[in-house]
Order: sequence, then structure tokens, then C-alpha cells
Amino acid sequence: MRAGIDTRRGAVRTRFAPSPTGLLHVGSVRTALFNYLFARAHGGKLVLRIEDTDVERSSAAFEKAAIEDLEWLGLRWDEGPDNGDSGPYRQSERLDIYRRYADGLVQRGLAYRCWCTKERLEGLKRYQVSKGLPPRYDNRCRHIEAQDAPEGVAPVIRFKVPERVVRFADAVHGPLSFDSRVIGDFVIIGSDTIASYNFAVVVDDALMSITHIIRGDDHISNTPRQALLFEALGFAPPFYAHIPLVLSADRTPLGKRHESASIRSLRGEGFLPEAVLNTVARLGWQPAPGLLCLDEMASSFSLDKLSRSPSVFDIESLRRFNRLSIEGADPVRLIGLSGIGMEGADKERLREIVGLVRRNAATLNDMKRLLNPFTGEGMAVTEEARAILREPYAKAVVRAARAGVEGLDSIDEAAYDRVIKGVKEATGEKGRRLFMPIRCALTGDTEGIELVNVFRILGRERAIERLKCFEE
Ligand code: GLU
Repeated sequence: MRAGIDTRRGAVRTRFAPSPTGLLHVGSVRTALFNYLFARAHGGKLVLRIEDTDVERSSAAFEKAAIEDLEWLGLRWDEGPDNGDSGPYRQSERLDIYRRYADGLVQRGLAYRCWCTKERLEGLKRYQVSKGLPPRYDNRCRHIEAQDAPEGVAPVIRFKVPERVVRFADAVHGPLSFDSRVIGDFVIIGSDTIASYNFAVVVDDALMSITHIIRGDDHISNTPRQALLFEALGFAPPFYAHIPLVLSADRTPLGKRHESASIRSLRGEGFLPEAVLNTVARLGWQPAPGLLCLDEMASSFSLDKLSRSPSVFDIESLRRFNRLSIEGADPVRLIGLSGIGMEGADKERLREIVGLVRRNAATLNDMKRLLNPFTGEGMAVTEEARAILREPYAKAVVRAARAGVEGLDSIDEAAYDRVIKGVKEATGEKGRRLFMPIRCALTGDTEGIELVNVFRILGRERAIERLKCFEE
């Protein structure tokens, strides 16, 4: 076991803390999932916290979308904006709390007001960079008393960074240490009186009694600042697990600009929540193979099994899990999820049709397309199918097929074979030239489920009706 992982049962509290500045994507959901699984694995609690202090980039619409996506995935939190005793759970509603704690630090001499102007700070940075030094604040206002402050400048509050080596244990990366001298006194409350990310996160994690922080390793560089703040505020630090980033196929870190990896877009394409969760779970973790439910994942989840290398989101793997999910799902649920109108449709029949078409579907959208010839009011015919059906050989095949079906009482597999054999003999066609015209006439498409099932679903009368439309 790597350092700092173990827990007392029931005491574990994790959090998922999205900033509502974009849609949830595969990478952020992986963070949510691991926090969810770790809490479940230890009988603990998951907190959902909305980090919306960046007023310009945050929006209520993104918060709503994130909540809907988490609910759709079945990643239910125990405390969050809708319930819980450690709230409010939106940072924008906690600004007074942050200011109170910042004032407390100022009073204790651990933080101070700084009146440096933007121009001075920019000049300082330019100078440092020109000398090859790491840019950092030079702590000038540490020694300025309020009465000497320049007029008309709204101050920020800076944390007095103690000079020393900061050490913390990371469940994925092992023990880490940083020299605080490269940090420089950093802003904890801005001139607009809004807390900085690092300060708000620490105050919240402490007051919400978060015991384990599982997040992307792009936050490692923030952790020394946060560890120092925990100490200054007198709170016990949490355990950390920084998980390597998820990369997109082009090997760049997956982020809000990769729209196709957003949960919204995957949902729109007809992926099922269980397929998304199973794919996401394998990004940096290797649970047992096969489609697992959340309980199965939780029972084997452990931070010390997480990978230290970045993982790549592979849409093919998602498609494989989606096929498995569609195969295993209750047809009535699939009908509901794909929004196919049940009105007027005979439920039993629809269920049977779904049972037949789902084998050929990688997504719910595929399934809808495959169902189209059997459920819609009238049949849509693709251009490609129309072109085939215009050919004289195709009309001859369709005519022969219609005659064959008319000679049957009902359609089963043996009857279907007889019809095909009859058409072959009557027209001399075989292979694609034999099957394609029949498929196109019956479904309006060049692709779809096995032809024998098309006949079965349509039944004798509807098959004759459709074939008749294309025989002349
Ligand atoms: N709100 C941060 C983000 O969306 C997460 C902060 C954290 O996990 O500490 O990246």
C-alpha cells in the first residue's frame, strides 16, 4: 500500500468539485467516479461542491448540466447543493466565510494586505523573467502598515508563505516535496474581495471535513500552497491522490474544448450511462473485465491500484461497452432511453423488434435507425436504395419475391429460405443482386438487420405491400 491511503470505515469523505465553466467531459467524470467509488468502498460520503467563484466564466446553465449528467450516470452524491449539513455547497454563496478566515489570518500576522498595482506587478515579472528568475511576488507589502497605504487602490490579501520544504504524501505519486521559496506570497482574497481558488478550496475542504482529495494531477502544483494554508488555518490536512490526466486520441489533455468527449455529446450519440462509466473506470484503473455495475466497481476500488501514467480515451472501447450494455439491457428501458414513441405501438411487438435489432446496434441512435422501417408511419427510402430499386434487374427480383411471399401462409425461417430460393431460380440473380433489392424494398435502406428478421417483423401482408410499391 502506498502512503496515506488507509481509512477508518465510515469516516471517509470525498468530494467532486466541478467549476461550472463548461460541460462535464470524460476526464472530469473519471474524477467524479473515483471519488464516488472510494467513498462507497469505505462506507463514506461523497460531497458535490460547485466551484463558481470565477464569476465571468461560471454559469448556472453549466451547473444544471453537470448535475443532470451526474444523475444520468447514476453518480449520486450524499451532500451537495440540494441537501446536506455542511453547506452552502456553492462557493459563490460562501464568500463571507472565506473573508472571515482570511481576516483571521491577517489578525494573526499570517497574511497581509497588499496595495501593489497591476503595473508594478507586471514590471516586477518582466524584470525577473529578464534575469532568468522564477516570477514571484517580492513580498514588498509585508512591511507596509495600513496607514501608509496608497489611496484609491483596493488591496488584495496575500498569504505569508513560510520558507521551508513542504512535504505531503500522494497515494498515486508517493511522497512529494516542494521548496516553498519558489512560491512567493500569493493572493488569497482578490481586490474584488473574492477568494482565490486555492484559498476557497482549503477553507471548504476543511469545513466540509473532506478526508481524501482525488483529483487530476494538473492540481499537484497547487497542493503545496494548499498544504501550507491547511497548516496556517490550523486544520488537519487531507490525503491526496492526484490521478494522471486523460488524453484524447491526439494525445492532448482532454478538456472542455473536446466537445465530442462531453457527456452531453456522448448521450446525444446514444451511449448508455453504464457504457460510459465502464469506459471511464478503465482510464487509469484496471478492474475485472466485463461490464461492471457501480457496486462491483466499488468493491474492488483502491487508490493504490491507480496508474501513474496518463491514459487515452478510446471511443472504440466505449462502443464495445455500449454494445454489451445494449445487449444486456431490458428492451423497454432501451425504448424509453431512445425516445421511440410507444403510443399506438403494440408494446409486446416493439419489445420483440428491439430484441431482434439490438444485436446490430452499437448505439441507441443505430438502434433507432434500425427500428425506423418497422416503427415509423410510412417508410423513408434512402437515395442509395432508390437508385438500386430503379434498376430493371431489381424490379424483377422484387416481383419474384412478392410472388414467393404471396404463396406463403406465414413467414418463418424455412419459408424465408424457400422464397429466396424461388427468387434465385426465377431471376438467375445471386449474392448482393439477389438480396439488396429485397432489403431496399422492405426497409428503404441498404443496411440493417438480417433479412429473415425483416420478413419476420413485417409479416406477410406488410411485406407484400412494400414489395408491390417497387416492382414496376
Ligand atoms: N474546481 C476545480 C476544477 O474543476 C477542482 C478543484 C480541486 O479538485 O481541488 O478543476
